Amino acid sequence: MQGPAAPGSPRGSPRGSPELFRKLLVNQSIRLQRRFTVAHPLCFDLENGFSSGRDPLDSCQSGRLVQTPGQHYHRHESFLYRSEGDHEHSSKTASQNSSVAIDLHGEDVIVTPFAQVLASLRTVRSNVAALGHDPGSATRKQLLRTPPCSQTAPAEDAGLQLVQETLQELDWCLEQLETLQTGRSVGEMASSKFKRMLNRELTHLSETSCSGNQVSEYISQTFLDQPAEVELSRMSSEDDPAPMSQISALRGPSLTSPPTAAVPRFGVQTDQEGQLAEELEDTNKWGLDVFRVAELSGNRPLTAVMFSILQERDMLKTFQIPADTLLTYLLRLEGHYHADVAYHNSVHAADVVQSAHVLLGTPALEAVFTDLEVLATIFACAIHDVDHPGVSNQFLINTNSELALMYNDVSVLENHHLAVGFKLLQAENCNIFRNLSAKQRLSLRRMVIDMVLATDMSKHMSLLADLKTMVETKKVTSLGVLLLDNYSDRIQVLQSLVHCADLSNPTKPLPLYRQWTDRIMAEFFQQGDRERESGLDISPMCDKHTASVEKSQVGFIDYIAHPLWETWAELVHPDAQELLDTLEDNRKWYQSRTSCSQPTPQAKSSSA
Ligand SMILES: [Zn+2]
Repeated sequence: MQGPAAPGSPRGSPRGSPELFRKLLVNQSIRLQRRFTVAHPLCFDLENGFSSGRDPLDSCQSGRLVQTPGQHYHRHESFLYRSEGDHEHSSKTASQNSSVAIDLHGEDVIVTPFAQVLASLRTVRSNVAALGHDPGSATRKQLLRTPPCSQTAPAEDAGLQLVQETLQELDWCLEQLETLQTGRSVGEMASSKFKRMLNRELTHLSETSCSGNQVSEYISQTFLDQPAEVELSRMSSEDDPAPMSQISALRGPSLTSPPTAAVPRFGVQTDQEGQLAEELEDTNKWGLDVFRVAELSGNRPLTAVMFSILQERDMLKTFQIPADTLLTYLLRLEGHYHADVAYHNSVHAADVVQSAHVLLGTPALEAVFTDLEVLATIFACAIHDVDHPGVSNQFLINTNSELALMYNDVSVLENHHLAVGFKLLQAENCNIFRNLSAKQRLSLRRMVIDMVLATDMSKHMSLLADLKTMVETKKVTSLGVLLLDNYSDRIQVLQSLVHCADLSNPTKPLPLYRQWTDRIMAEFFQQGDRERESGLDISPMCDKHTASVEKSQVGFIDYIAHPLWETWAELVHPDAQELLDTLEDNRKWYQSRTSCSQPTPQAKSSSA
């Protein structure tokens, strides 16, 4: 086997430059097949490409004419599609690729390393097949004898060029495969690439203005797993909130009246049941007014939404969950959300439950998940922020809190939410899973743990990278349904789904989104006040005197929400297109507010 290029002198790979590296037809046709799957699958199989056996360059031409249904040509793409290094490629590789590339829109660019290797190998395979399918060709016979670099007659140029391109493609793949580090997963490769790309964007953002700097710091500290540099000498634990670390510190029976023999229709005591029923008719819609549900349910939105969704999904029958047990548990769970925390309270939990419920119902995922997986997902959402104190993991770590001590600074809050959520099942008449088999209970518990731990925002980039890799190497069954044939793939989609639901605010109708923004900023500012009082550095976005609310939302959309939702939308295409439009409209709204509220003219978004 021939060795790769000398170490330390990486060949300018066109794959590092998305603007140049376009999907070849083979990959394009996989995408088309995926989108056409339900309606009319193309005659394409992963092994052999188009069944017509045409020359790939011909197919390339015809592929150009194929229109993808429902494709939006005018929506912006996130930073993931921006070139990683404009000068990394040589003109040689550029021309090499332009000869075989399809000039399609950026969304057809492959960005994750593993998918790039796969795409490249498919190209090689298809090129070899093309050479083999032309048995009468003098070119082919000659090719078998002639080294690719020798001069030949013009008629044979095309064949020769194909051979040369194929060899270069193969060399690139070998180089990639040989430099894979043992123990470093495909997901990590993609994740570190994305972090590199986002860091470059954030550097640019922080240079534009002072508030840009704050937004940039907030994003890198929250979503990039890059903790702020802290001065340990200034740390203090004197202002700690009341101990939260021991699960035994759980509060006693819920103050709300325990359910009696007659279980209310939505599980909550209310004299506005009719209006509540009306509001809950939107349970299957993106944009249920969960704030209104909170008002109409005596501030028990989580109980009302959960009760309603589990009944609608017939889960009480499927898993023999007694209604009174469910109600006892839900009221107790909801009681452990802090009503005085501005954002991470039970309204947010209800919102995430309902959003996940809608995402689970998306046509592309129909019949993909089992009842137990659906139950686990909804339960995970319900408990995912329980007993949230309204401060960040970093705050808990910086203040040497009991919780951080308990969980060794690792996903402190998420571990706590899980512990509380499961511990509450042990209270009297609270075990809603008591009629599950031992195996089902274990399986559900494992899934719920995996999902809630993945809501730690510092895991965002790895989750996104894994999802993107999955999308770009997506396997579908012959029926066109997403093929998820192992636990790792299945839980990955469910983790992404819950994470999306947790970050769904900017994709909701603007009046709802604005309320969420007000709430999260109120919570941040409260934390900032506590940090100021304690003489700690104020966390980014938490200083009420300097934070720019509008800019932070634009930055959050550009660098976090948009890349995530764009990737999710690709996975379930074309189900989530409307939601992407709302996201773009909402971004425009906040962007327009930054222009009039911010006097700094240089605050120009790099992606607008
Ligand atoms: Zn949350």
